[in-house]
Amino acid sequence: MIDLDELVFHPWSVQGPRTAPRFVCGSGSYLIDADGRRYLDFSSQLVFTNLGHQHPRIVAAIKQQADQLCTLAPAHACDVRGEAARLIVEVAPDGLGHVLFTTGGTEAIEHAVRMARLHNGRPKVLAAYRSYHGSTTTSIHLTGDPRRWASDTGMAGAVHFFGPFLYRSMFGSTTVEEECARALAHLEQVILLEGPSTISALVLESVIGSSGVIVPPAGYLRGVRDLCTRHGIVYIADEVLVGFGRTGTWFGVDHDGVAPDLLVFAKGVNCGSVPLGGVLVGDPIYETFTRRPYPAGMTYSGHPLACAAAVGAIGAMHDEDTVAAAARLGTDILGPGLTKLAAKHPSVGNVRGIGGLWTVELVRDRLTKEPLVPVGSAGEANAPMTSFAKACLSRGLLPLILGNRIHVAPPLNVNDADAANGLAILDEALAAADTFVP
Ligand code: PLP
Repeated sequence: MIDLDELVFHPWSVQGPRTAPRFVCGSGSYLIDADGRRYLDFSSQLVFTNLGHQHPRIVAAIKQQADQLCTLAPAHACDVRGEAARLIVEVAPDGLGHVLFTTGGTEAIEHAVRMARLHNGRPKVLAAYRSYHGSTTTSIHLTGDPRRWASDTGMAGAVHFFGPFLYRSMFGSTTVEEECARALAHLEQVILLEGPSTISALVLESVIGSSGVIVPPAGYLRGVRDLCTRHGIVYIADEVLVGFGRTGTWFGVDHDGVAPDLLVFAKGVNCGSVPLGGVLVGDPIYETFTRRPYPAGMTYSGHPLACAAAVGAIGAMHDEDTVAAAARLGTDILGPGLTKLAAKHPSVGNVRGIGGLWTVELVRDRLTKEPLVPVGSAGEANAPMTSFAKACLSRGLLPLILGNRIHVAPPLNVNDADAANGLAILDEALAAADTFVP
């Protein structure tokens, strides 16, 4: 019999036969495979099912919109698109009053950078080394981590800098305050030496997501905001992964009380139920395009089904107080639970995170911090992580593993019993990783 999965070309993967659970349905924090096995989803997929699978409010909103009007070209006005924009603007930082809808995060980054360049006419864009901004031309060049290498032509005007990261400090810091001050001083030097008049924008994940779950020290984002303002650089906050509650505030910039010039979102806006992303546009850049047309668009910009799903999701987040639940998940459950695991398992070098977004970084040696598997390892070299993954799957837990890190990102409405069960499975699976510590 033909294996249908082999007809699919899989992103970021070596193609060919593979063994992976085949999911047929989902409910809340669980996915169910073709054999009826339940898996606790500790990944929220790629950190987007913030309200779990099949949230009734989102499903109902999509169904109702499908019955009424499935699709509509972007040039036409329709209430559901406007209502989604209204709900997004309502929770966004001050001064971001308009929304360009896209079909995902990568596209939204492309548009944010284009808007910035058209606004101030400068060529370069600054981005952090530890970052992921998407996989199309501009967004992959801005991406700082090794996912960029295969696509890097060096032609996109991207300039990378180091953000604050105390665990692996580039600045020899010993305290968060020192790290924050030194990272800002480094960024200022990069700006001055590159030439402020050549820098159009700075794009920064408000909490670094898939490149390491790195929470900036208090004051860092404010410092970035000040540097951008001082040098006329457009500050683009990439909130694709953390926006809409993931870190215990509506947006990551809220932790520092900062408003960027452009804010890019996707994933959590409608829990990934129908592809949707967008750019929240601040007044000065909006003004630029009241004098001339914005020279780009997409057939599915503001797709009614995706917007209906956003209306359902944001409504549910308000009614269920999801943002507060995410904050509590971090302070009361995941933070203390993972810290206990770190103390117990020799393979754990560092645990860090906030709200519903955490990582457990695995090392060969806690003193040297050498990663348990090298960057980009596959096959035998990646055995520690594949053993860990197998141990999770066989116990009914779906993990999110990136390099030498286990990212812990359950739905924000996961109940306490399921969260505790997930932590208990991680505890057992880490024993498999420990056996690889020399
Ligand atoms: N920016 C960040 C911070 C992301 O985490 C991602 C995806 O994971 C993207 C951009 C790209 O978004 P998408 O995969 O929806 O195109």
